[in-house]
Amino acid sequence: MERERKLKVLLVGNGGREHALASKLLQSGKVQQIICVPGNGGTAAMDRCQNLSLRVDDFEGIGRCVSVHNISMVVVGPELPLSLGITDYLKRKNVQVFGPSKEGAQIESSKSWAKALMDEAGIVTARSKTFTDAMEAKAYVALQGAPIVVKADGLAAGKGVVVAATVEEAQAAIDELFENNYRTLVIEEYLTGQEVSVLALTDGLTIRPLLPAQDHKRIGDGDTGANTGGMGAYSPAPIATPELMERIGKEVLEPAIATLKSRNIDYRGILYAGLMITPAGEPKVLEFNCRFGDPETQAILPLLETPLEDLLLACAEQRLAQQPPLVWKSGVSTCVVIAAGGYPGNYQKGREITGIGEAEALGADVFHAGTQVKQQKLVTDGGRVLGVTAIGDNFEEAIAQAYAAVDCIKFDEMYYRRDIGDRVRKS
Ligand code: AMP
Repeated sequence: MERERKLKVLLVGNGGREHALASKLLQSGKVQQIICVPGNGGTAAMDRCQNLSLRVDDFEGIGRCVSVHNISMVVVGPELPLSLGITDYLKRKNVQVFGPSKEGAQIESSKSWAKALMDEAGIVTARSKTFTDAMEAKAYVALQGAPIVVKADGLAAGKGVVVAATVEEAQAAIDELFENNYRTLVIEEYLTGQEVSVLALTDGLTIRPLLPAQDHKRIGDGDTGANTGGMGAYSPAPIATPELMERIGKEVLEPAIATLKSRNIDYRGILYAGLMITPAGEPKVLEFNCRFGDPETQAILPLLETPLEDLLLACAEQRLAQQPPLVWKSGVSTCVVIAAGGYPGNYQKGREITGIGEAEALGADVFHAGTQVKQQKLVTDGGRVLGVTAIGDNFEEAIAQAYAAVDCIKFDEMYYRRDIGDRVRKS
């Protein structure tokens, strides 16, 4: 208990996900201090939380901070430092880390590696083939026909996947990805259905799935326009019934962890399965991620009752099996992302943001993503600026409350989708 009261956490990242993690970590009172590297305007404003202006891939700087501040646990938000081996680096300094090793992070950083793992584990996923030669890839596409999916092998911040409606489009995507210096591509069967995100805590031995979520990836209402980092999310996703969640646990998450373990890969963190639920109700894996999803985390964590620090530390110390079952609030949540006009293309920064206090007074959580405090003013500092989450007894209520809070917030050229959660509004 003594150690828990004095928990000091270093949190890596600067998105809405990290603000949501920091808010939840500070809720129970057991966490004495959080240092966010680099954090954002939201984490800067929280009691017991301070920002440290370092890059997320400055391992030496982060390592020094861990020693100087006597950090008990490092929680890594984004995929980039994980894929570069931050966990391996910090573990050599004997600090507990929530986030998989570099080897484990390949489940996200290499689509071909993830596909091979799924094959070995017997996990159902879209049929695919890996290519290192453009001509061969194009010939394969011509043979398979469209629609078909072309995926870059490597971190691409959501920009490495092209769902091609025609053979020509797929072939152009192949040329473009090779021209952009990707050396390996995965060409994949096109799947239809509803997507759902299932994030599970794991210590490499045991899994504890969180509530399922669905997000809205496109910029425009009605799921139109360019792909983004995510414009909103809601949880629990009604499509992932308890029976389906059980199947996903048994057929996807457990075999993945068992196979990672059989390869002696140290995987302690989040295993995130992006799934397509086919019209026949079959869960098929589209991708794995090695970290909390954003904005899903901003919808899921406000529903969690169990102290988050207990869970993250249990994963890092490989004793998740001894944790009591997760406790959740009974309601449902909706998160609406507010972006800067022009995102995901060019957008302005430095616009003053007002009305957050009023939004919070309505009971919503306002998570900061691209914000910064400049000359005592909160200003925009990124494409996705804020995530506004509300909880209700049902989706109708949660959606209405989230949008009522969004209405309080103002900045020049702010943009948000008006249809977040429409699909589940009546459930
Ligand atoms: P990924 O990064 O692999 O999840 O792909 C990004 C997005 O592309 C997914 O969320 C889907 O919307 C879409 N996508 C990926 N793979 C497929 C597929 N095999 N069939 C249909 N859509 C896909």
